[in-house]
Amino acid sequence: MPEICSEGWLKKAERICSPNAGDRPDEGDISLLVIHNISLPPGQFGGGYIQQFFTNTLPCEAHPYFSEIGHLQVSAHLLIERSGHMIQFVPFTKRAWHAGVSQFEGRENCNDFSIGIELEGTDDSPFTPQQYAALADVTKLLMRYYPQITPERIAGHSDIAPGRKTDPGPAFDWALFRQLLG
Ligand SMILES: [Zn+2]
Repeated sequence: MPEICSEGWLKKAERICSPNAGDRPDEGDISLLVIHNISLPPGQFGGGYIQQFFTNTLPCEAHPYFSEIGHLQVSAHLLIERSGHMIQFVPFTKRAWHAGVSQFEGRENCNDFSIGIELEGTDDSPFTPQQYAALADVTKLLMRYYPQITPERIAGHSDIAPGRKTDPGPAFDWALFRQLLG
């Protein structure tokens, strides 16, 4: 059994299908990995709200912030929870809606050609060792299955949407992550 099936699903991840996805303009062009962070409500972990947010089922009455963002239609390919548990929302072969207005090396619309991974966390709080381990693990796998993704083509959301986005933030340890990639 391949670790990523031909439809683009990661075998070891839990699977929750998001409707916020579409076809890539070129399925053969998967050439960028984008790292994000998210927590819902902001600064709180657990609760399952990210899963609901990415499937358009966020209960707007549960928190004032949710009524501000509940109308948004967004997704990522993968979420890595604090425990290291991974949930996949969109197959890698499809286009997830994580980057927004963005640019990498002069090319716009990064969603077209990227894979988006969300770490449950905030810009300023340390991510867990389990998250770094899971992220490094899946990144190595993605580089094997999609060889156009190279270490030079791994970026933070803040790198492709500067001034608009700040994640994964200063608490994300790029040196450790790159060291784990070997
Ligand atoms: Zn982001």
